[in-house]
Amino acid sequence: MKPVAFDYTRPRSISAALELLDSNPNAKILAGGQTLGPMLNLRLVQPELLIDITRIPELAAVTEGDDGIGIGACVTHAAIEDGRIGEPANGYLNRVASGIAYRAVRTRGTIGGSLSHADPAADWLAALLALNGELEIVGANGTRRAALDAFVTGAMETDLGPSELVAAVRIPKRSRAIRHGYHKICRKTGEFADAIGAVAIDDKKGEFRMAAAGGSHAPIVFTDPRHLFRSADPMDADSFDIEMGGAALRDAGMNADDYDLRLRAITLQRAVHDAVQR
Ligand SMILES: Cc1cc2nc3c(=O)[nH]c(=O)nc-3n(C[C@H](O)[C@H](O)[C@H](O)COP(=O)(O)OP(=O)(O)OC[C@H]3O[C@@H](n4cnc5c(N)ncnc54)[C@H](O)[C@@H]3O)c2cc1C
Repeated sequence: MKPVAFDYTRPRSISAALELLDSNPNAKILAGGQTLGPMLNLRLVQPELLIDITRIPELAAVTEGDDGIGIGACVTHAAIEDGRIGEPANGYLNRVASGIAYRAVRTRGTIGGSLSHADPAADWLAALLALNGELEIVGANGTRRAALDAFVTGAMETDLGPSELVAAVRIPKRSRAIRHGYHKICRKTGEFADAIGAVAIDDKKGEFRMAAAGGSHAPIVFTDPRHLFRSADPMDADSFDIEMGGAALRDAGMNADDYDLRLRAITLQRAVHDAVQR
């Protein structure tokens, strides 16, 4: 199938992009096109105008502040994989990026496009939920910040307004003691995940976040999952109770069958193993 006919424009500033969005209710933002392209071809979306945001310099920038690092929405998976933006999380972002699809997809696909689409099987969503990431969102009323777990309201659902765009992803600064772990189960290397477990453990600060995602179920975040361990020590990965993990995911609202819940609990345990080994 072919897309319906559409107009195309490539603004050079955020304000120009926002004006275009505001004055064209049937417009779509185009970033890497790795999700939007197939959706256009299948006519799942039929926009009159595509607003290509990839030539807006601010959206490709990386900024460092006292509270953390901001990664522009149009930074590609490949740029992160290659360490071209630095590595604010001890190699965690590089590793996650390198497991997304294959290199051709990573070369064009962007971190902002992936998070805006909010596919529960996508890598950045779970990976950054574990880091308590935030989004910088711009619109007619200025800039707002949204915690990623509040931004994602369901599977492929977000609270992004029709005239807003994601400008950057913010990763909060953490102590050097923080450990990150990530595990993805998929049928073929580089495919969308059936199950993802992502963890961030900062033993010094007593912080521990876990995110479980995959398939078509909205991700679940545990902000203090210590009760899911049989041992008092969260670094004892084997003591993460897979049965209890699956039940906790169901109680938290993951409406999946027993097999998928178990698979996701297993990825959580493996993510803890990954974190402990680093
Ligand atoms: C074969 C294949 C395999 C893949 N495998 C994986 C995988 O294993 N893991 C994974 O995580 N992903 C995978 N992907 C998806 C890939 O990572 C995409 O890059 C990503 O989902 C979308 O990013 P994009 O920049 O291409 O966005 P686009 O396709 O351009 O846009 C996606 C959606 O987000 C909107 N959008 C884009 N940018 C913004 C913004 N800044 N603000 C607001 N809205 C915006 C668009 O309007 C559109 O609705 C795969 C894709 C393909 C084609």
